[in-house]
Amino acid sequence: MTDRTNWKAKLSSDAYHVTRQAGTERPFTGVLLNEDRSGTYLCKCCGSTLFDASAKFDAGCGWPSFDKQTSDGNVGYREDSSHGMQRVEIYCLSCDAHLGHVFRDGPTETGQRYCVNSLSMDFKTSDGEKIAG
Ligand SMILES: [Zn+2]
Repeated sequence: MTDRTNWKAKLSSDAYHVTRQAGTERPFTGVLLNEDRSGTYLCKCCGSTLFDASAKFDAGCGWPSFDKQTSDGNVGYREDSSHGMQRVEIYCLSCDAHLGHVFRDGPTETGQRYCVNSLSMDFKTSDGEKIAG
């Protein structure tokens, strides 16, 4: 765990709010929402691999969406009853960054919809280009 990390100094204020205070970015504002190149989505805070681009799909909800995490298994799950809703929060097991929520209404064969804040991630293309979410 990296509890002593000065996340406020490392992150933009928006990314800090989302990842360290379980905030939610406004829908349809994320840099990575319409990203469709092949590559890997990483935790913005610690760089852990979270999702492969092959699992990304357009859910129409305004946030980057995936139908499964990678076999690395860096995405954790926990019950979230905030805002009067029963949801399952997803977070980074390495650094505890809030990522978003997962729902069981996905349109693909996994039936899962990982709804992730663009601000929680960086994207590394197959060519090695890195894009901040
Ligand atoms: Zn992390």
